[in-house]
Amino acid sequence: MRKESSAWTDPPALPSGAVPAEHRAEVAERGSFALASCSCGWFAPARRSRDKARRDAREHLDQPD
Ligand SMILES: [Zn+2]
Repeated sequence: MRKESSAWTDPPALPSGAVPAEHRAEVAERGSFALASCSCGWFAPARRSRDKARRDAREHLDQPD
């Protein structure tokens, strides 16, 4: 029995405003510093505040270039 697979080949569309899969930013802690980095290769300078690192990540996701 052959399966009808065409409906399953495409991933679901992202809702508008969603971050593309290529950009997955995360905040890593290194000692007393925190730094944001992204799956696209981008990274922010180390911050002494995790909030600032998170803001770096957020800004990158808003404006990846
Ligand atoms: Zn990115």
